[in-house]
Amino acid sequence: MQAIISAVRDAVKVCRTVQEHYLISNTKSSGNSKEPVTIADYGSQAIICRTIQSVYPDDAVVSEESGKQFLELVSAEQRATVLEIIGEVLGTPVTQDEVVSWLDFGKGKSAKRTWVIDPIDGTKGFIALRHYAIACGLLIDGKVAEGIVAAPGYNDEGALFYTRDGDTYRAPIAEGEGEKVGISKRTESSEFVIVQSVEKAHASKSRMQLTREHAGLDNAVLNELDSMEKYALVACGDADLYMRLPSEGANYAHKIWDHVAGAALVYNAGGTITDIDGTPLDFSQGDTLPNLGMIVSNGQRHDSIIEAVQAVMGESM
Ligand code: AMP
Ligand code: MG
Repeated sequence: MQAIISAVRDAVKVCRTVQEHYLISNTKSSGNSKEPVTIADYGSQAIICRTIQSVYPDDAVVSEESGKQFLELVSAEQRATVLEIIGEVLGTPVTQDEVVSWLDFGKGKSAKRTWVIDPIDGTKGFIALRHYAIACGLLIDGKVAEGIVAAPGYNDEGALFYTRDGDTYRAPIAEGEGEKVGISKRTESSEFVIVQSVEKAHASKSRMQLTREHAGLDNAVLNELDSMEKYALVACGDADLYMRLPSEGANYAHKIWDHVAGAALVYNAGGTITDIDGTPLDFSQGDTLPNLGMIVSNGQRHDSIIEAVQAVMGESM
């Protein structure tokens, strides 16, 4: 994992450079919706996949962006900028062909081990200068095993979260070893910290509000932030509950790259993750999850939160 952690740290440098100097976004089609994408998404994925290719050439990769998109969506001028930024971060010049091959490395392959990469999770947050994450997770036989999540907005200075030997660690974002972290033991509603998405389109805020009321958590602290940093906050005990409930009639298929790395942090830290009906998430079905939503918690009130979710989901909105 050490090599991949270094690559994620290099990807952070790419993202920060783009955010400071070159922030232009394009729109790509994703299912039946439009999603923003920036040159940092491509730079970040290329750098991480380059390392996976050299360290684990036989592994499979599921990643959000593709070489084809990079060539079709990004102008020649912006592509040149990405090559320059990657070259500066790696300390060696890179070609467009190399970047395209890294972007597509491991795609469509099936292997025992699958790396699952979201080069910028929370792109809308990244563009709006809110929170975002760079995430690389590992599935072994379709089960969540390891995760690395860089969260540049964590506590203003950023942090890098990763798993190792069944534990979860938090390290300085740029370099250095991590300290072991674990989920909280908090049970009292007045002490509870709950996190959820900023974007209204990503989860039903009204259902989550009603669930908090049903579960007796309406006096808990509520923080809204973008990206998989929410999983990291539960894993390190800063938050106790992260809810993601579908809006009525929504049929959004959750992408595995939005969840694997974050889920690994929470599982290894001792937390609980289920679908909205209390069943485990299923990462063995390809690029999407069959699950409708996510309830991520320190486990202390998980069952009663699920009961509340079920009551709310049964109500018409
Ligand atoms: P968050 O900041 O936690 O809301 O998560 C950001 C991720 O939500 C993005 O990477 C998107 O892939 C994903 N997303 C986009 N549209 C939706 C949607 N309609 N429902 C749920 N998640 C979505
Ligand atoms: Mg994402």
